[in-house]
Amino acid sequence: MEDNSPEKNIPTNFIRQIIDEDLASGKFSCIKTRFPPEPNGYLHIGHAKSICLNFGIAADYKGTCNLRFDDTNPSKEDTEYVDSIKEDVKWLGFSWDGDVRYSSDYFDRLYGYAVELINQGLAYVDELSADEIREYRGTLTAPGRNSPYRDRTPEENLRLFEKMRDGGFEEGKACLRAKIDMSSSFICMRDPVIYRVKFQKHHQTGDKWCIYPMYDFTHCISDAIEGITHSICTLEFQDNRRLYDWVLEHISLNSPARPHQYEFSRLNLEYCLTSKRKLKLLVDEGYVDGWDDPRMATISGMRRRGFTPASLREFCRRIGVTKQENVVEMSALENCVRDDLNNTAPRAMAVLHPLRMIIDNYPEDKEEVLRAPNHPLNSQMGERDLPFTREIYIDEADFRETANKQYKRLVLGKNVRLRYGYVVRADSCEKDENGRVTCVHCTYFPETLGADMPDGQKVKGVIHWVSAKHAVKATVNLYECLFNVPNPGAAEDFLSTINRNSLTVIDSAMLESSLKGAKPGVTYQFEREGYFCPDSRHSSEDHPVFNLTVTLRDSFGKAEAGK
Ligand code: ATP
Ligand code: MG
Repeated sequence: MEDNSPEKNIPTNFIRQIIDEDLASGKFSCIKTRFPPEPNGYLHIGHAKSICLNFGIAADYKGTCNLRFDDTNPSKEDTEYVDSIKEDVKWLGFSWDGDVRYSSDYFDRLYGYAVELINQGLAYVDELSADEIREYRGTLTAPGRNSPYRDRTPEENLRLFEKMRDGGFEEGKACLRAKIDMSSSFICMRDPVIYRVKFQKHHQTGDKWCIYPMYDFTHCISDAIEGITHSICTLEFQDNRRLYDWVLEHISLNSPARPHQYEFSRLNLEYCLTSKRKLKLLVDEGYVDGWDDPRMATISGMRRRGFTPASLREFCRRIGVTKQENVVEMSALENCVRDDLNNTAPRAMAVLHPLRMIIDNYPEDKEEVLRAPNHPLNSQMGERDLPFTREIYIDEADFRETANKQYKRLVLGKNVRLRYGYVVRADSCEKDENGRVTCVHCTYFPETLGADMPDGQKVKGVIHWVSAKHAVKATVNLYECLFNVPNPGAAEDFLSTINRNSLTVIDSAMLESSLKGAKPGVTYQFEREGYFCPDSRHSSEDHPVFNLTVTLRDSFGKAEAGK
């Protein structure tokens, strides 16, 4: 028999253990999963967890995973979202089996199964209002009551359901309900609504339908039609599993093997929202620069921010899959991004707060080309040219007139090494009327390129720089968390927890010349500053715009402690 078990170094979890047992017992010989987003917004980091789980299982067990749009609510859905979701799944590195599927592909069959339920006396057309249905439903402590329309004959129900389909009922005036048990301890089993009237054009089926099936009725049947073996969803659907099984037990769909639903805990990430509805509000109200704003925990936002697919997959691997509700620290995600970029990001020099330095003993018209490796540990990433001239920029923070021994950068009368270049000594500085340093005058030591000081003196400090003549002026966006509180989703008014300082724009950073044509899609390490990538919306060759991806070190704990 073919061995479908995954490689041994992949961490297991309770779902994988169930699959192992199902394969061992022969219940299934091939694993089929699905990722079923509703196209009513862009995907976020929580969806990345579900994508990695479903597509990851399919890949590891040599099975397949479908991408199925759960499109039963046309009023909130849009093809813009369909397109963005496909792009995000592909970008994360996964491919779905065959064509993209839509629940709406099955609307005809779903209608047929609803008729089957009616014919068996297991579904009825109810004409209570939405408020009345809610009131009749009861509560967790009180059982529900039967609708006065519950005992209609199958013939009458069939006629009324057809009338619903043919546009004979206004919205809210009739719905189809499964006839299960109004006193069930599971509220979802108290005669759930399975079809409602909605006069709404659908992005896939156009004006064909004015009734639409509900999620609980649609999802299980779509799974069965597609031969899904393990239907994995988040814990809020735990109770609904009864309904999932009930529907499949009472219709004539003979799927190769009945699918089963398994639930895991959703991902909550500190300082982020994982609700499409709330993210949409941020976009609609203009709090952010679109769904892909780099501060958003959307997959497209993280892509624009410079996060890599590998780092998101690794994050999902590290957090694992359980049934425990928890909130993951932001630093866990950022550490995955750092770990990946540390190995893969080309290095470059960028001065964010430029201060002019004039090297008085360097000839005015001289230009030298120094060389620097693109990665300190990976020579295969090659080298680049660094033009060196008499006038350069260093960062304001790298010079002080006086300083104690802890300060390892440039101080008047002291030496420092220019990264990949010479040792220089600061001799004097110029200031403006406010006492702010505007220029540092230095002497360079010509023998020190790639060598120690001739007198053997050790130079500890190394600072980055760019040639003033060759520098590329750029805008750099620095980001903080979009929210001031770790759990904005729990706030009564999450908009009041928005961090007003989440974006700082530096409009005259100076980049080394090799970054001139940098394209979105590559994240760089600006030495000593952090990881940055060209902004996919606003960066151009004439005026580069870079986004902070992540700082070099985890500053989270510290920032918090200092508050
Ligand atoms: P939202 O509340 O953001 O709209 P949703 O659950 O309604 O989320 P769907 O488009 O229905 O969004 O989700 C597609 C799949 O992704 C579902 O299987 C869902 O369980 C899963 N999913 C959604 N949010 C998370 C999360 N935070 N963690 C893990 N999985 C999630
Ligand atoms: Mg949903």
